Amino acid sequence: MTEIQQKKMTELVDKLNEYAYRYYVLDDPSVADNVYDKLYDELLALEKETGVILEHSPTKRVGGEPIKEFGEHTHINRLYSLDKCQSYDELRAWDAKIKKAVGNVLYTLEYKLDGLTLVVTYENGKMLGAATRGNGVTGEDVTAQARTIRSVPAAIPFKGTVEAKGECIMRRSAFRKYNELTDEPLKNPRNAAAGAIRNLDPKVTASRKLDLVFYDVNYIDGENIDTQSDGVKWLKNNKFKTEMLCTTSDIEQIIEKISSVDRDALDFDIDGMVIKIDDYSVRERLGFTDKFPRWAIAYKFEAEETTTVLKDVIWQVGRTGKLTPLAVLEPVVLCGATVRRATLNNYADIVRKKIAKNCTVFIRRSNDVIPEILSSVEGTGEGEIALPETCPACGSPLVSRGAHIFCPNTDGCKPQIVARLSHFVSKGCMDIDGLSEKTLELFFDKLGITEAYELYDIKPEDLASLDSFKEKKSEKICNAIAKSKSVKLAAFINALGVPNVGKKLADDLAEIYGNLDALMSANKEELAAIDDIGDIVASDICGYFANRRDFIDKLLSKGITFISTAKGSGNFDGEKVVLTGTLSSMTRSKASELIEAGGGKVQSSVTGETTLVIAGENAGSKLDKAKAAGIKIIDESEFLSLVNA
Ligand code: NAD
Repeated sequence: MTEIQQKKMTELVDKLNEYAYRYYVLDDPSVADNVYDKLYDELLALEKETGVILEHSPTKRVGGEPIKEFGEHTHINRLYSLDKCQSYDELRAWDAKIKKAVGNVLYTLEYKLDGLTLVVTYENGKMLGAATRGNGVTGEDVTAQARTIRSVPAAIPFKGTVEAKGECIMRRSAFRKYNELTDEPLKNPRNAAAGAIRNLDPKVTASRKLDLVFYDVNYIDGENIDTQSDGVKWLKNNKFKTEMLCTTSDIEQIIEKISSVDRDALDFDIDGMVIKIDDYSVRERLGFTDKFPRWAIAYKFEAEETTTVLKDVIWQVGRTGKLTPLAVLEPVVLCGATVRRATLNNYADIVRKKIAKNCTVFIRRSNDVIPEILSSVEGTGEGEIALPETCPACGSPLVSRGAHIFCPNTDGCKPQIVARLSHFVSKGCMDIDGLSEKTLELFFDKLGITEAYELYDIKPEDLASLDSFKEKKSEKICNAIAKSKSVKLAAFINALGVPNVGKKLADDLAEIYGNLDALMSANKEELAAIDDIGDIVASDICGYFANRRDFIDKLLSKGITFISTAKGSGNFDGEKVVLTGTLSSMTRSKASELIEAGGGKVQSSVTGETTLVIAGENAGSKLDKAKAAGIKIIDESEFLSLVNA
């Protein structure tokens, strides 16, 4: 080993051990798992290259040392970590290696729950104690903490000695609820669960509403269990909560199952899937390395969380004048995309998450385009983030309403005006093609357009004066604007931007009132009697129509006409339809439109009422659910023939 390699190796080992201490012992990680894993893989490669493994290398050890404050528990059978792979080809190679060594085998497939291992011991049918994995040999005695978990049975039918092993998790729903009500938000469900179990006060553990899902019989006395599937069955019969997806010897079937997992649809975090050899006698032949069994492997998903440095916070003004803080980040790759910005809710969120300039933050992919900031690593930043007093766009003094701050300069603040125009022209509203936010900003700057109705006065020659507007483009835009005059009532209501009225409510209001005049003259009590509308929203709607009459009249005077929305009838008459997977021939909204035009109703998830599922490419759990429920399923080509597309 060269001197440079030795130095690099020592550096990596020290760094990883420090990270592991924060993660396993303090339950307060300072970097995200993918950052740790990258360094770990680097160390592994260096060890392979040099043939040297340092005494205290993390590649030789499981987990972290138990904390002294807890009593010690020595596991009857040692606990291990799991070998991992990150691509299907690596998984196929693992399968080939196994089958070469031991012939054809049956595998089990399970979720790799992202929590912490707990082993619960029972004797004479009673729970005796519970322990963490610790360093694999000795764990921490967390009996009092585990007793607060409702899914851990206090008594079981089996009367011998048994060690049941499972993953202690905090469900996403419990995590969200907890974080909504606390001043000290938890980083993520895994750390929340680990921190709660390894807390000396069982009351804290109880407050986190943890769950324990069992997946192994780690030791059993007086019962013959020969396979993983029998072990899980045994656990189930003895009142333990379990999950198992399938057994098969075909690795391609496993891969198919893995790719159909819809992580977003689960109420718990998983960081991968675990593939195990079912037969214990085959397991025995393969044995263990220092760190993991040779008969199992974890397929790890792409990380949804990472860490980076927050450089600053800027404030964005939205169409209602609300200022939203946006974090400017040191660019980092997450789920294949480079992330430069992340959202924060409001100033209280910044204070709660202890955000400072140049601090390290945990970010997580969310369903929105922009990821969210989960938390900061204490002590990493400097430079307070100040609450702005004036609007960053127009300089007006800001006002606070509830948890948010607003710019009151509705008619003169450029980003508010542009955002209102942008909403007006967007899909689901007037749906005018070719008017990006940039173009609308240009219209504001050069043509003085501030109100939506002014768009209808634009002529091709006005656009000709603008840079980069060739004749063809100008005409196209003017045609698109003219075409939008014929619009569905629901889309028009949505386009108005009535406070608290989104697409769904706009659809409902259009259906209930049928025409604009009836809606505009509805009173507060009448509106508040509608499902989903409370007093505040009813006031907002009435207030809007009282104050914006002039605006609406001007808009209508441009020749807006409402197209009939009478429900179509046709090939989807009376059907409740769910779309899943990707359609290659059209967008989902276009498909929904066609279904509705054909008399069907589109649902977002498979329910007892669903009558038809249209499955595109890579359809996930919704398809599985539909299959299980025996609901009729058609593919894209059958769908296209039904809509004559
Ligand atoms: P692991 O978490 O990758 O895999 C082993 C564990 O998976 C088991 O101990 C068990 O608890 C769990 N598991 C969940 N479902 C299971 C199932 N169905 N069957 C069997 N086991 C199941 O390995 P590890 O050694 O516990 O920890 C390594 C992980 O910890 C890595 O992902 C690493 O990124 C992370 N880590 C992070 C930091 C950090 O600073 N962020 C530091 C150290 C370790």
